[in-house]
Amino acid sequence: MSTNAELLMKLQGLDYQLVELERSKEYLPDMIATLQGEIKTAKGAVDEARDQLEATKLEHKRLELRVKDKNVELERLKSQMVAIKTNKEYDALSREIDHVRTEITAAEDGILAALESIENLSKEIETKTSEFEDVQSRNGAQLANIKGEMDSVGTKIKIKQGERDNVLVRLEAPLVAIYERVRKGKGSGAVVAVKNKACSGCFKTLPPQLVQEIRRAERIITCDSCGRILIWSEEGGC
Ligand SMILES: [Zn+2]
Repeated sequence: MSTNAELLMKLQGLDYQLVELERSKEYLPDMIATLQGEIKTAKGAVDEARDQLEATKLEHKRLELRVKDKNVELERLKSQMVAIKTNKEYDALSREIDHVRTEITAAEDGILAALESIENLSKEIETKTSEFEDVQSRNGAQLANIKGEMDSVGTKIKIKQGERDNVLVRLEAPLVAIYERVRKGKGSGAVVAVKNKACSGCFKTLPPQLVQEIRRAERIITCDSCGRILIWSEEGGC
């Protein structure tokens, strides 16, 4: 490769890296937000299951008290039986007793359901906690890396720009002008190698004399078809 071609490739490489670094300033904060969001969601799932467990424990306690109270009530009603004088009173009291018994059964069913929920929620909390810990450690490590990267982006950009300036002073101004013009038009990939006797930017086959000229690197040659700067590379295997 001629010096010009080497310098152009180096310039292009630096420009790729600079574009990447500038882009990272935009996507790194997004990545941080996503990773933090995942941690928050996992933590939220644990908290939600814990809240449910607390509520279910309270409900369990409430039902136990209700069974206790209703049993006291039942005993009181039963004790009234001895003082019953008429069939009508007997029927009324019997209905009342049946009603309290039904309430006790319902509360006892509720206690069983609550105990089952408590067991399930305890298991769920264990699972969700371990999921949360996994996410926290995995994302935490990534976050540390990304934050480190973000802190160093500015420095890296300055270093790359310094290297770019060093390349620019060694290139002739018209060459830089062509490079900048093609780069602006193509977005990237302003300098391409000749591969299999064709432009590796647009794959158009090049006339043999032109390939030879590019190989000798006497002047800057751009592709007729796509406008990119063509350089010779031994890896091109022409
Ligand atoms: Zn081309």
